[in-house]
Amino acid sequence: MAKICLCLTGKTIARDLEVLDKYRKYVDVAELRVDFLDPDERFLIRRFPELAGLPVILTIRRHMDGGNFVGGEGARIGLFSKGLAFAEADRRHNFAYVDLEEDIKVPSLEEAARTFRTRIIRSYHNLQGIDADMAGKLRSLLHVGDEIAKVAVMPQTFEDVRALYQAARSTADVEKILLCMGHMGANTRILAEYLGSHFSYTAALGEEDFPAGAPGQISPRDLVKLYRFRSLTPQTKLYGIVGWPLKVSSSPEFFNTVFDSERTDAVYVPFPSDSIGSFMNLAEEINLQGVSVTVPYKETVIPYLNSKTAEVESLGACNTLITVPQGWSGANTDARGFSDSLLDFIGKKDFKGKRITIIGAGGAAKAVAAEIFRLRGKALVLNRTQLRARELASPYRFASAALDDRGAEMMNGYNDIIVQTTSAGMDPDLEGDPLDLYSFKGTEVVMDLIYKPERTRFLSRAEAAGCRVLNGRDMLIRQAKYQYSCFFRREYPTRIVSQ
Ligand code: NAP
Repeated sequence: MAKICLCLTGKTIARDLEVLDKYRKYVDVAELRVDFLDPDERFLIRRFPELAGLPVILTIRRHMDGGNFVGGEGARIGLFSKGLAFAEADRRHNFAYVDLEEDIKVPSLEEAARTFRTRIIRSYHNLQGIDADMAGKLRSLLHVGDEIAKVAVMPQTFEDVRALYQAARSTADVEKILLCMGHMGANTRILAEYLGSHFSYTAALGEEDFPAGAPGQISPRDLVKLYRFRSLTPQTKLYGIVGWPLKVSSSPEFFNTVFDSERTDAVYVPFPSDSIGSFMNLAEEINLQGVSVTVPYKETVIPYLNSKTAEVESLGACNTLITVPQGWSGANTDARGFSDSLLDFIGKKDFKGKRITIIGAGGAAKAVAAEIFRLRGKALVLNRTQLRARELASPYRFASAALDDRGAEMMNGYNDIIVQTTSAGMDPDLEGDPLDLYSFKGTEVVMDLIYKPERTRFLSRAEAAGCRVLNGRDMLIRQAKYQYSCFFRREYPTRIVSQ
């Protein structure tokens, strides 16, 4: 069973213990990162396991391996010796593990560790990318049978992440820790049990003076509460969301909360991928059951579908993948999510008589335009790239223009409702406003599909002018409920969870 390890990166032993106490209920093991301690504190490490009251890993990470230790190798070995010296009969007072990099070969240290049953983690870090043969690398680390091999790599592309999953599969017999660092690799930390990793390393991200021990670490609370790490097994069904850069998404929270309420043995994981092709290969290899598709892949995912709903066919955009015996089936739940949300907000059954401006012509705009047409509204499509605006508008006989002065002028005939569908203004682009040429009159109903931040600059301007405004959260929840129905072929369980 994979264990949760909290990396302690405080400057003092006292602060490490304080933070450990705060997170204790979520973690099984602590890693004392001696390289983060103030120099004077490093002399006090020997008593740490006894004070910590749980198994502790002794780690002194060098700068070249992504750590903070800049002293010489002699000094580092001296510190290791200090940590492993004066071993006590009560093993709980000794370090349970020591992390020794593959190139550090000091027989006296290894002997001291083995004599008192401190397990050696034989580690290898590649901060520049991955190794061509990661499985071979992992096996080569094991000098003696009782060591745990650790390989931590920094993926440069999603294909690298995929290679790590492959390496995990071919080393099922090896006791190991295998992970990808960075934003792209967070899923390898969540799925440690699936990968057969001994530990998932986490960070006390809420503490300002506690930097993450390595890029991409997530908080132990999120691992336990959001991703239900404790209940994951190699049999747990996997779901996820793919997008790029996929920095923010509320979908994991939505689906994992439902799974928890229903006691469904499933987990929903983010897969930030720079390539839809690489992701689709991985999705098949790890048997993903269902996938949400977000920016920028709603259109480019279509060639990978074996079957699609009539909506995907007509919209040319897909945000939901369901695994079927023939491969992948695609659906689009954005369309219904959008119209349900906006119609509810304006208290109408359709858009008859409404003249509407759609800002943007990407995947989300396709769903918005189709729904406005289906529900009898008239629209103007404005987009940065004018050609895309025209292509979206013409099948519906909507008007179109570029996002410029002329477009802003044309809006005067289409301003009952304004729907913003571009990614401009989405966190972290907080200053972005695709419609800064337009001054709101205060009579428009304004919807922004973005929900992070809650109020984009665009939506704040509309609100300040007196408009009724709606952000994309309600749409997100509604489309996710439809997505749930696609994944599980049953209604969303409203009585079990209220989201
Ligand atoms: P997409 O297919 O990549 O399309 C992006 C659109 O944004 C294109 O029209 C693009 O114009 C435009 N754009 C990007 N940056 C811009 C800028 N700086 N200024 C002006 N226009 C810009 O993305 P998508 O899938 O349609 O998603 C778009 C947004 O909708 C995202 O923020 C997404 O989170 C949100 N969304 C929300 C929900 C929800 O449930 N609330 C559902 C779906 C989408 P060009 O054609 O000129 O490149």
